[in-house]
Amino acid sequence: MAEIRLTGVDKRYGDFVALTGLDLHIEDGEFCVFVGPSGCGKSTLLRTIAGLEDLTSGQIRIGDKDVSDAHPGDRGIAMVFQNYALYPHMTARQNMGYSLKLAGKSRAQIEQSVLTAAGVLGLQSLLDRKPSELSGGQRQRVAIGRAIVRDPAAFLFDEPLSNLDAELRARMRLEIAELHQKLGATMIYVTHDQVEAMTLATKIVVLRDGKIEQIGAPLALYDEPANLFVARFIGSPSMNFIPARLQHDEGGAFAVPDLFTQVRIPLESPEGIDAGTPLFIGIRPEHIQWTENGPASIKLRAVESLGDISFGYATLSSGEAFCINLHDERRFSAGDEISFDLSTKKAFIFDARSEKRLQ
Ligand code: ATP
Repeated sequence: MAEIRLTGVDKRYGDFVALTGLDLHIEDGEFCVFVGPSGCGKSTLLRTIAGLEDLTSGQIRIGDKDVSDAHPGDRGIAMVFQNYALYPHMTARQNMGYSLKLAGKSRAQIEQSVLTAAGVLGLQSLLDRKPSELSGGQRQRVAIGRAIVRDPAAFLFDEPLSNLDAELRARMRLEIAELHQKLGATMIYVTHDQVEAMTLATKIVVLRDGKIEQIGAPLALYDEPANLFVARFIGSPSMNFIPARLQHDEGGAFAVPDLFTQVRIPLESPEGIDAGTPLFIGIRPEHIQWTENGPASIKLRAVESLGDISFGYATLSSGEAFCINLHDERRFSAGDEISFDLSTKKAFIFDARSEKRLQ
């Protein structure tokens, strides 16, 4: 097991800057998840740590070794891919033991390691099957087993559950969480899936255009996003952003929405922010309370009812999407006017120009 430390990591493909100036410390035993929109550099970062891509500049340390120029096989890591990358002509047992065979281990040692990993993953009865005789989830477990037998310093997962259907994905997510608890290993995981990121990670790294926007524990990012980008990215459905302006009066400074002027959200530290400054009030769908009579209202474009929970969707006249979590309230449908209150302690305020969170 090992900590991983990146310092000043840059990766360019010709003139294209894929990663720039990345500093990141992943502690021993941590479960670190990389998230960000498509093309932001998640896989490139993972592959750079694995040694499958060369660094343009910077340093990568795994444990106490500088591996910046080391061959992938000499970094002590094991990678699990989205497409499993199993050898089709080999059984699960042979796939899992192959790297140990290449390393010159004895048959007995290989068998022992494979059986131990199969025990952890519940694969004992499937070891003599070939990949074509296994389900997607079982194949992914074999691929994880192949990583476990190598006893790596760290596991790197590149969207390992993306090829699985929703139900299996949920099951495998729990299995990976349990595996992390059992092994206590350092794990790095790339995903597009909000739920995977929030539930598996001890640390989330949010990337945008090859740069780190914010690093933090899942709930810290949910509770304290540094800027509009992170606020928009963490949480599902996404946070609402309501255009507003700063107003001063004898009662203090307030963010007042352009559209719902009856709403006033006090700004606790308005120093240095001029009256009229454009702002966004950020409020998550689950923190908007519907009310019988105002102070704000909007016409619902659609309502999605999932049984225990319903979401109402609308579009603000500014063009911003708007979503309200109606919890188990079923009385609303598309076309209804809904009243709500935005005055909650859970409303954020962002500077619309710098995109930084002010409150
Ligand atoms: P996705 O979520 O879609 O998988 P990602 O965040 O993993 O995206 P990367 O695959 O890391 O993104 O790619 C980051 C950027 O680097 C993209 O713009 C991609 O086009 C570019 N890129 C990746 N590999 C190469 C390459 N070999 N040559 C040139 N550009 C590349």
